Amino acid sequence: MFYEGTIYRPPSEAKSIILQITVGCQHNACTFCTMYKGKSFRIKSRTEINEIIATAHAQDSDAERIFLADGDAIAVDSLLLIEILDQLYEKFPRLKRVGIYGGPKDILAKSPQELADLKTHGLSIVYLGVESGNEGILKSVCKGVTAEQMIAAGQKLKASGLTLSCTVIIGLGGKALSHEHAVDTARVISEIDPQFLGALTLMVEPRAPLAKEIQRGTFQLLSPFESLSELRTLLVLLNVTHCVFRSNHASNYLPLSATLPDERTALLKTLDSVMENKSLERLRPDYWRGL
Ligand code: SF4
Repeated sequence: MFYEGTIYRPPSEAKSIILQITVGCQHNACTFCTMYKGKSFRIKSRTEINEIIATAHAQDSDAERIFLADGDAIAVDSLLLIEILDQLYEKFPRLKRVGIYGGPKDILAKSPQELADLKTHGLSIVYLGVESGNEGILKSVCKGVTAEQMIAAGQKLKASGLTLSCTVIIGLGGKALSHEHAVDTARVISEIDPQFLGALTLMVEPRAPLAKEIQRGTFQLLSPFESLSELRTLLVLLNVTHCVFRSNHASNYLPLSATLPDERTALLKTLDSVMENKSLERLRPDYWRGL
């Protein structure tokens, strides 16, 4: 399969065929993110999309999962997305699920009916990068939406029947706003009440705008145990109905996975035992070797 530039997908789409129907991210302004910095956003032409689908079909006509890339493919016009979904389910008879990244502004731009239609035509899961629920942090990292707009986007998706997976970034407020970040993010995620929640830990590439703040000393990264403490605060305050929580991305110091709220006590016990004993050996080796 030919891809333009580096392809990113959520960890849970590891077994999916990735179809790049758009290139880049329409927003492309977040100061911590370098994923699509070298790409100008564009929606691929119908001809290109047909070729991509034909190539994927030639490679694996039995595919059960497909992920539509790049970073904000939900920006594609809903009628075109529906056409693509219909084509996919027709061509791939064993297809069970189609996932997509959705930016909050593009989710808000779609009507409830459009989202419901996408669900009816087989869109299964949308991945929304919430990152933080703190207004000041969202502004300083140029996320492009307020906390209330983020809540509205998440609730709108859920109301349409689509499955929602949210991502937050531990450490995004640095040392200065760690507590506020945890408290406000817990509030926003609780208001959205997604079915899935992933917590990444902030990793800043040298070419990310946020790296300059770190160099200037105006933004201080959390230590591994400060990150775990922030995550703990978030987990304690989360008020969700039934949410599969994962913090097992390569960026995380301690791989964790649980269903909330049922397994919260066990999750906190694991975190507490690592934090109280300063158990460096339980953190991912790549991190604690350098401490
Ligand atoms: S919206 Fe997502 S993909 Fe786009 S710049 Fe921000 S974090 Fe990166």
